[in-house]
Amino acid sequence: MKPVTESDIRSSFLNCSKGEAKRLGPPRELDGQPWDDLDFLGWRDPGAPERAYLVTERDGRLVGVALRVTSGAQRAFTSRSMCSLCLTTHTSGGVALMTARRTGEAGRQGNTVGQYMCADLACSLYARGRREAAGGGVVDESLTPEEKVARVRANLYSFLDKVTGSAS
Ligand SMILES: [Zn+2]
Repeated sequence: MKPVTESDIRSSFLNCSKGEAKRLGPPRELDGQPWDDLDFLGWRDPGAPERAYLVTERDGRLVGVALRVTSGAQRAFTSRSMCSLCLTTHTSGGVALMTARRTGEAGRQGNTVGQYMCADLACSLYARGRREAAGGGVVDESLTPEEKVARVRANLYSFLDKVTGSAS
């Protein structure tokens, strides 16, 4: 994706108020992001670890989603979980349930959409083999990096459709 600025980020959010978007903690080191290798920029709020955000380009527009991180009950160290975006498997703690408030009327009624995602939101890097899950593994080794990247985007867009209610 193309590099974005902090003000781009703050004005991109679909599912939070302008006030919330103004208060959120931007990612550290925005200038140092590996933009060429990112399908989306995801980060945990430096001032509020239970909040996370992701920002991506879609149809030439920057689209941001605010997320709540639910770590859930600690499971056995040997248990593994899979990210629903990049399908990387992680050991306990590497995957978190991320919940987004839906846009519009559904969101005002308190409806949310939750998906398990890499807790560090670095799916783009896992898909490209630039980061490896600690003690984790990758399924579908037969896929090329390009195919994995396409899959991350497809899964991300379908998540966005659920947030905005445009999923068919
Ligand atoms: Zn992932």
